[in-house]
Amino acid sequence: CGIVGYIGKKKAYPILIKGLKRLEYRGYDSAGVALISDNQQLKVYKTKGKVSELENFVAQKDISGTVGIAHTRWATHGEPCSANAHPHYSSSEKLALIHNGIIENYAVLKEKLQAKGYTFKSSTDTEVLVQLIEYIKVTNKVNLLAAVQLALGEVIGAYAIAILDKEHPDEIIAARKSSPLVVGIGEDEFFLASDATPIVEYTDKVVYLEDGEIAVIHPGKELKVVDLNNVETTPEITKVELNLGQ
Ligand code: GLU
Repeated sequence: CGIVGYIGKKKAYPILIKGLKRLEYRGYDSAGVALISDNQQLKVYKTKGKVSELENFVAQKDISGTVGIAHTRWATHGEPCSANAHPHYSSSEKLALIHNGIIENYAVLKEKLQAKGYTFKSSTDTEVLVQLIEYIKVTNKVNLLAAVQLALGEVIGAYAIAILDKEHPDEIIAARKSSPLVVGIGEDEFFLASDATPIVEYTDKVVYLEDGEIAVIHPGKELKVVDLNNVETTPEITKVELNLGQ
C-alpha cells in the first residue's frame, strides 16, 4: 500500500503513476488517482488490480492537471473492488482523500454522519474520514486545514492521508500518525510519498513527517508543518541521495 502526491508545474499524472510503480513492492490490491484537471474539475479514477490496469482504465480519460494524489490499497475494511479503492470523494465531490492505515472508530463516526443524512458509496473506513472532514468544514464554516485538524482529533487509528480540495487547486494537505509519509521539496514543486523512493529522482531534499504532523503544501511557498492544535514546527530537511540513473 502506498501514497504518492504531486503539486507544481509539471503534468502530475505521469509522476504519480511512476511513483505508484516504485511503491508496488509494498503490495496492494487496487489503485487510484485524483487530479485537479486543467479545467478545474476534480477527477477520480480507480480500479481493482494492478497499476497497469489503472493506466488502461484512464486511457481515454482526462488526465490533465499539475496537482494530484495517487494510492495503492491493501484492503483492511471492505473487499478489494473499484468502489472501495481510493481516492474517496466527499459527498459534494469537492474533496478527494487517500489513506493508508486503519480508522478504528469508523463505525461510530459513520453512524453519526448517517444520522446527519450522509450516504456512503463504499464499505471502507476511509470514506468516513473524508465525509467527516467535509461535514466539519461545512457546519463549522472553517477552512480545509482546520477541518482536517478537528476531524483527526476525533479519529482513533493509524493513518497517512492526503487530500485535494477542488476549490483550492493550489494546495495539498497531508497528515500522518503511525503510518509513514515523506514530503519532497523541489523548485516550486512538492512531492509526497510513503517513502522516499518515488521522490529521489526529482529532488534530494525531503522531510519525514513525524506522528501527529500535518503538512500544508503550496507550490511557491515554504512547506508549512503544524500539529492538530495548529502549533507550527520548522520542518527538518534531510538530504537524500539523488538517483538520476533511471
Ligand atoms: N483501511 C483502508 C482501506 O481498507 C486503507 C488500507 C490501506 O492502507 O491501503 O481502504
